[in-house]
Amino acid sequence: MTAHALNQSSPLAPDWLAVPADLNALHPPMWAAGVERNDDGELALDGIPVSALKEQFGTPLFVMSESDFRARARSFKDAFDEAFADICGGVDVYYAGKSFLCTAVATWVAEEGLRLDTCSGGELAVAARAGIDGANLGLHGNNKSDAEISRALDMRLGRIVVDSLDELERVAKIASGRGETAKVMLRLTPGVHAHTHEFIATAHEDQKFGLSMAEDSTEQSGLSAAEEAVAAATSYPGIELLGLHCHIGSQIFEPDGFALAAEKLLGFLAEMQVKYSIQLPELDLGGGYGIAYTPVDTPRPAAEIAQAMAAVVRSKCAELGISAPRISIEPGRAIVGTSTFTLYEVGTLKTVRVDAPANGDAESAGENVTHPRRYVSVDGGMSDNARPVLYDADYSAILASRTSAAAPQLSRVVGKHCESGDIVVRDVYLPEDVAAGDLLAVPGTGAYCWALSSNYNYLARPGVVAVRDGSVRLIVRGETEEDLLNRDMGV
Ligand SMILES: *Cc1c(COP(=O)(O)O)cnc(C)c1O
Repeated sequence: MTAHALNQSSPLAPDWLAVPADLNALHPPMWAAGVERNDDGELALDGIPVSALKEQFGTPLFVMSESDFRARARSFKDAFDEAFADICGGVDVYYAGKSFLCTAVATWVAEEGLRLDTCSGGELAVAARAGIDGANLGLHGNNKSDAEISRALDMRLGRIVVDSLDELERVAKIASGRGETAKVMLRLTPGVHAHTHEFIATAHEDQKFGLSMAEDSTEQSGLSAAEEAVAAATSYPGIELLGLHCHIGSQIFEPDGFALAAEKLLGFLAEMQVKYSIQLPELDLGGGYGIAYTPVDTPRPAAEIAQAMAAVVRSKCAELGISAPRISIEPGRAIVGTSTFTLYEVGTLKTVRVDAPANGDAESAGENVTHPRRYVSVDGGMSDNARPVLYDADYSAILASRTSAAAPQLSRVVGKHCESGDIVVRDVYLPEDVAAGDLLAVPGTGAYCWALSSNYNYLARPGVVAVRDGSVRLIVRGETEEDLLNRDMGV
C-alpha cells in the first residue's frame, strides 16, 4: 500500500490542499488555545483528553474552550478600543449571538465588556435569562414581528436595527402607541460585498436585507430608500434615530471591504446631518471577520483590522469636516468559531476508486488510472454542521484519540444521514490506518454549527461542553430520545 511516495498528493485533492508534513501536528490558527497532544498522543484541551470527554459526555460533542472565547472577545474589544481611542473614545463591540448563543456565553460576553446582538425573540429570551441589561442589546432582522418589537421595548433595548421603510413605520407605531421612543439604527446596503479574498461593489442591491443607498431605489420620491428612511425617522413620533448600520458579508480576511463601506456610510451620514439638520451619533460597521477553517485561511489579527478601519474613519471624517460618530462592530464567528471543535467517533469506512480529473495527463496518455478516496463515516453530520451542505464550506479534521505513523490518505469525512451530500469535511488527508472507534476532531466549529443544528433523521442534537482552567462543564446538554419524542402529540 505504500508503493506511492509518502507525501505525494492525490490528483483527486483540490489544488489548495497540501499533504501535511506531519499528520499528527496541529495547525495552530485552526485550534483554540489550550488544545494540544498530550504525552499519550491524544488530543487534549487544558489537559483533558478527548477519551475522557467521550467517556463522560458521549459523541458527537461540541468541545469549547471558555478561556479561548473570552480571550478573543477581549482582544476584539481591546484592539478596537485602542485603535479608535482618539477618534470616538473607543468602540462598542456587539457579539453576534446568532453564531452561537446560550446563557453561559451571554454571561461571558457581558463579563468581558461586550454587548450582544440578537435577531429574534428567542435570542432575546436567552439574553433575558442571562440577565443582560437591555441597554447592551441590539435586535436585528428583516421581519421582526410586532411581538418581537414589543419585547424589545419591554426590555428597553439599546438599539433596534431597522431593516426597511415598512418596518420603520411599524416600530414607530408600536412605540408611539405605548407612549415610548424606540432607539433605532437604520441598516443600509452600501453596495459593497466582501467575498473571502476580494470585494465587489454594486450600485443596486438585490437581497432581502437593508435599505438601498442607490439614488433611484424608490420610485416615487426619487430619493434612495436609505434617505427616505432617514427623513421618515426624523419625522415619526416614537423614533430616536441613533445612526446607521451596515454588514457587508462574512468570512472576510482583507480590511478593504470594511474600509470602503465605512467611507460610503460616513459620506452619507455627513450629507444627512446637513440636509435634515440632525446629528447621527452612531455608526455600526457590522461583523464578518474571517477565521481559519483550513491551513490556507489566513485571518488577520484584530489589531491589524482595527487599525486599517480606524485610519479610514479618521481621514474620511477629517475630509468631511465632521466629528466621528461612535463606532460599533458585530463580530460573531471571529470570537466563537475557533474556540470550539467537534468530537466524533469513526464508524463505517470504505474506499472508492475514482477516475482522475479529465484534464490530467493520464487520460491523454490513454491510460485508465483511478485513485482512491476514502469515506470516513462519523456519528453526526449535517445535523450538527450544515455549513458544508449550505455553503460548500471547507473544514479540516484530525485523528484525535491517538497519533499514527501511517501514510496519508485522501479522505472525505461524512455523516450518518440519509443524504449523499451529508459531508463534514470534503477533502482532508488522514492516516490510512484510521479505524472504527477512533475519535476525530473537526476544528473551527464554534460558529453556525450548533446554531444551525437540526434533528434531521431524528438524530439528537449534541451537547456543548466548556473547558476552563482544566475543568469541564456542560453548558448545553445534548438531546435525549425523550426530547425527540416530546413534541409528538401521539395518535
Ligand atoms: C451574521 C451577522 C453578523 C456576524 O457575522 P460574523 O461573520 O459571524 O462575524 C454581524 N452582523 C449582522 C447584521 C449579521 O447578520
